[in-house]
Amino acid sequence: MAPGRSTHWKCPKCGDRFLAVNRRHSCGKFKLEPLLAVCDPGAAAAFRKLVSVLRENGPIRVIPKKSMIIFQATRRFGAVTTGKARIRCSLMLPRLVPDPRFERIHTFGPGRHEHVFGLRTEADLDASVVEWIRDAYRLASDARPDIPPAIARRYR
Ligand SMILES: [Zn+2]
Repeated sequence: MAPGRSTHWKCPKCGDRFLAVNRRHSCGKFKLEPLLAVCDPGAAAAFRKLVSVLRENGPIRVIPKKSMIIFQATRRFGAVTTGKARIRCSLMLPRLVPDPRFERIHTFGPGRHEHVFGLRTEADLDASVVEWIRDAYRLASDARPDIPPAIARRYR
Protein backbone atom coordinates (compact mmCIF):
# COMPACT_ATOMS: atom_id res chain seq x y z
CA MET A 1 0.00 0.00 0.00
CA ALA A 2 1.25 3.48 -0.77
CA PRO A 3 2.36 5.42 2.30
CA GLY A 4 -0.31 7.40 4.06
CA ARG A 5 -3.15 5.87 2.11
CA SER A 6 -5.45 5.09 5.01
CA THR A 7 -4.37 7.02 8.10
CA HIS A 8 -3.62 10.44 6.66
CA TRP A 9 -5.81 13.45 6.13
CA LYS A 10 -6.21 14.17 2.43
CA CYS A 11 -6.43 17.79 1.30
CA PRO A 12 -9.62 18.02 -0.78
CA LYS A 13 -8.08 20.64 -3.07
CA CYS A 14 -4.74 19.13 -4.07
CA GLY A 15 -4.93 15.55 -2.79
CA ASP A 16 -1.82 15.95 -0.65
CA ARG A 17 -1.74 13.74 2.45
CA PHE A 18 -0.72 14.64 6.00
CA LEU A 19 -0.88 13.10 9.44
CA ALA A 20 -2.35 16.35 10.83
CA VAL A 21 -5.81 17.40 9.67
CA ASN A 22 -5.97 20.76 7.88
CA ARG A 23 -2.24 21.07 7.92
CA ARG A 24 -0.97 24.22 6.21
CA HIS A 25 0.92 23.42 3.06
CA SER A 26 1.79 24.70 -0.38
CA CYS A 27 -1.51 23.74 -1.96
CA GLY A 28 -1.85 23.04 -5.65
CA LYS A 29 -1.28 20.42 -8.29
CA PHE A 30 2.13 20.49 -9.94
CA LYS A 31 3.98 18.23 -12.32
CA LEU A 32 7.47 16.81 -12.13
CA GLU A 33 8.39 17.45 -15.75
CA PRO A 34 8.73 21.27 -15.66
CA LEU A 35 10.90 21.03 -12.54
CA LEU A 36 13.21 18.54 -14.24
CA ALA A 37 13.25 20.36 -17.59
CA VAL A 38 15.79 22.88 -16.24
CA CYS A 39 18.33 20.11 -15.51
CA ASP A 40 21.31 19.16 -17.63
CA PRO A 41 21.40 15.41 -18.40
CA GLY A 42 23.78 14.80 -15.46
CA ALA A 43 21.55 16.51 -12.92
CA ALA A 44 18.43 14.80 -14.31
CA ALA A 45 20.18 11.42 -14.05
CA ALA A 46 21.18 12.25 -10.46
CA PHE A 47 17.52 12.91 -9.65
CA ARG A 48 16.35 9.62 -11.19
CA LYS A 49 19.06 7.72 -9.31
CA LEU A 50 18.11 9.48 -6.07
CA VAL A 51 14.48 8.39 -6.43
CA SER A 52 15.49 4.83 -7.23
CA VAL A 53 17.76 4.67 -4.15
CA LEU A 54 14.94 6.13 -2.03
CA ARG A 55 12.56 3.45 -3.28
CA GLU A 56 15.01 0.68 -2.34
CA ASN A 57 14.12 1.50 1.28
CA GLY A 58 10.38 1.08 0.88
CA PRO A 59 7.37 2.91 -0.48
CA ILE A 60 7.63 6.67 -0.86
CA ARG A 61 5.54 9.42 -2.39
CA VAL A 62 7.27 11.86 -4.75
CA ILE A 63 5.33 15.11 -4.50
CA PRO A 64 6.06 17.90 -6.99
CA LYS A 65 5.39 21.40 -5.66
CA LYS A 66 5.71 24.81 -7.31
CA SER A 67 9.47 25.06 -6.87
CA MET A 68 10.51 21.83 -5.16
CA ILE A 69 9.94 18.10 -5.02
CA ILE A 70 9.08 16.56 -1.67
CA PHE A 71 9.68 12.97 -0.53
CA GLN A 72 7.33 11.34 1.95
CA ALA A 73 7.34 7.98 3.70
CA THR A 74 4.99 8.01 6.68
CA ARG A 75 6.32 11.52 7.25
CA ARG A 76 8.09 13.93 4.95
CA PHE A 77 11.82 13.48 5.13
CA GLY A 78 13.45 15.18 2.22
CA ALA A 79 13.17 17.54 -0.69
CA VAL A 80 14.92 18.50 -3.89
CA THR A 81 15.19 21.77 -5.75
CA THR A 82 16.37 21.39 -9.31
CA GLY A 83 18.96 23.48 -11.12
CA LYS A 84 20.80 23.34 -14.42
CA ALA A 85 24.05 21.73 -13.29
CA ARG A 86 22.89 20.06 -10.10
CA ILE A 87 20.03 19.22 -7.83
CA ARG A 88 20.01 20.50 -4.25
CA CYS A 89 18.82 17.90 -1.76
CA SER A 90 17.79 18.13 1.85
CA LEU A 91 17.40 15.13 4.11
CA MET A 92 16.24 15.03 7.74
CA LEU A 93 18.73 12.85 9.62
CA PRO A 94 18.61 11.56 13.22
CA ARG A 95 22.18 12.64 13.96
CA LEU A 96 24.71 15.23 12.84
CA VAL A 97 26.84 13.80 10.05
CA PRO A 98 30.28 15.30 9.48
CA ASP A 99 30.84 15.44 5.74
CA PRO A 100 32.28 18.33 3.73
CA ARG A 101 29.55 17.86 1.13
CA PHE A 102 26.95 19.34 3.46
CA GLU A 103 26.47 23.00 2.61
CA ARG A 104 24.13 23.63 5.48
CA ILE A 105 22.85 21.75 8.51
CA HIS A 106 19.78 23.02 10.30
CA THR A 107 18.93 21.48 13.67
CA PHE A 108 15.21 21.51 14.45
CA GLY A 109 15.52 19.58 17.73
CA PRO A 110 16.99 16.41 19.23
CA GLY A 111 17.34 13.79 16.51
CA ARG A 112 16.13 16.19 13.82
CA HIS A 113 18.91 17.58 11.68
CA GLU A 114 18.26 18.74 8.14
CA HIS A 115 21.32 18.22 5.94
CA VAL A 116 21.61 20.02 2.61
CA PHE A 117 23.88 18.89 -0.21
CA GLY A 118 24.16 18.95 -3.98
CA LEU A 119 24.25 16.17 -6.56
CA ARG A 120 25.65 16.78 -10.06
CA THR A 121 25.72 13.26 -11.52
CA GLU A 122 24.44 9.85 -10.56
CA ALA A 123 28.01 8.92 -9.58
CA ASP A 124 27.67 11.40 -6.70
CA LEU A 125 25.32 8.92 -5.02
CA ASP A 126 28.09 6.95 -3.37
CA ALA A 127 27.90 4.61 -0.36
CA SER A 128 27.71 7.53 2.10
CA VAL A 129 24.76 9.13 0.30
CA VAL A 130 22.97 5.76 0.20
CA GLU A 131 23.49 5.50 3.96
CA TRP A 132 22.12 9.03 4.60
CA ILE A 133 19.08 8.15 2.54
CA ARG A 134 18.54 4.94 4.50
CA ASP A 135 18.75 6.82 7.82
CA ALA A 136 16.37 9.55 6.62
CA TYR A 137 13.87 6.98 5.38
CA ARG A 138 13.98 5.04 8.63
CA LEU A 139 13.39 8.18 10.63
CA ALA A 140 10.37 9.06 8.52
CA SER A 141 8.77 5.63 8.40
CA ASP A 142 6.95 3.64 11.04
CA ALA A 143 9.62 0.94 10.97
CA ARG A 144 12.25 2.68 13.03
CA PRO A 145 13.06 0.57 16.12
CA ASP A 146 16.28 2.50 16.66
CA ILE A 147 14.48 5.81 17.27
CA PRO A 148 13.06 6.34 20.79
CA PRO A 149 9.28 6.99 20.68
CA ALA A 150 9.68 10.41 22.33
CA ILE A 151 11.82 11.55 19.44
CA ALA A 152 9.82 9.72 16.79
CA ARG A 153 6.65 11.56 17.88
CA ARG A 154 8.20 14.89 16.92
CA TYR A 155 8.07 13.88 13.29
CA ARG A 156 4.34 13.64 13.21
ZN1 LIG B 1 -3.86 21.09 -0.69
